[in-house]
Amino acid sequence: MHLARFPRVKLCHAPTPLEFMPRLTAHLGGPQLWVKRDDCTGVATGGNKNRKLEFLLGEALAQGATHIVTQGAVQSNHVRQTAAVAAKFGLKCTALLEHRIKTNDPDYLDSGNVLLDRMLGLHIEYREPGLDMNAEAEAYGATLRAAGEKVYVIPGGGSNPTGALGYAHVALEVLSQANDIGLRIDHFVHATGSAGTQAGLVVGFEAMNSGIPVLGIGVRNPRDKQEANVHKLAEATAAKLGLNGGIRREAVVANCDYVGDGYGIPTEGMGEALMLCARTEGLFLDPVYSGKGMAGLIDLIRKGTYRQDENIVFLHTGGQVGLFGYKDFLTRAAG
Ligand SMILES: *Cc1c(COP(=O)(O)O)cnc(C)c1O
Repeated sequence: MHLARFPRVKLCHAPTPLEFMPRLTAHLGGPQLWVKRDDCTGVATGGNKNRKLEFLLGEALAQGATHIVTQGAVQSNHVRQTAAVAAKFGLKCTALLEHRIKTNDPDYLDSGNVLLDRMLGLHIEYREPGLDMNAEAEAYGATLRAAGEKVYVIPGGGSNPTGALGYAHVALEVLSQANDIGLRIDHFVHATGSAGTQAGLVVGFEAMNSGIPVLGIGVRNPRDKQEANVHKLAEATAAKLGLNGGIRREAVVANCDYVGDGYGIPTEGMGEALMLCARTEGLFLDPVYSGKGMAGLIDLIRKGTYRQDENIVFLHTGGQVGLFGYKDFLTRAAG
């Protein structure tokens, strides 16, 4: 786990805080709930993609790229963070935004992340749903290359072995924080989407033989597909790091019971989780990822999955800018 062997730019405000959540813990009657604040990574209001972008931008700059191409849903946090980092390094940036959700809601289409994308000078191209968006991004990059540009294509969510190094690093970071304060981490829980966050965490925790189980709460795919995606990426990331023996398939666990009607479509549990965290801890989660992740954790707690004295660390992956894309739902949920 020698991450300094890879090209990297320093972007993140890190280490991000690891905080106890006393009022949420009391409200739920235990287990002991902690939050790792990767919503506070800095650049462009923060979030988990900045961790991956440290290594992705490092590689792009090492290759002499002048134009970054990526893709995501309309309210993609990844696209906003990528556009910001590209701006910060003086690179051009294009994103293909997929109309993954059928909606005419002007807040979803033009506020939140989209508003910030436009402020960042991002060049936006829209795509209808259901295409292979990574293939679309590659094809778009190829046309730019044909026109003489030096292009670096970042896959959706920044989830490839290079991006996942960012979360192998977070595994090191959080383990060192826990060791310093004498916190025994019994479970590590977070929202999983394009798989890079969980893949990197699993690789980092396994490489250090930490014994910390990671649970990804899915926001899009069914369980089999999500676990297969994460495991494949974890194996590739481990290989990139030169770790022998691969990654145990059992180390990759996802629970995809909290997706609801689909990616980015609100659920009642998400609304409850958002209000509960806001009203007990002054903590804003996001409607697409961390809100559904916390909804899953709360439901598992209520079902008696954890002992009262167990310590659970929830990774806050950011995304609060997306709240402004869901104004009507949140206004109702706030009561
Ligand atoms: C992208 C994202 C995730 C999911 O991370 P993956 O690495 O794509 O699985 C979780 N939370 C937020 C806020 C995100 O933007």
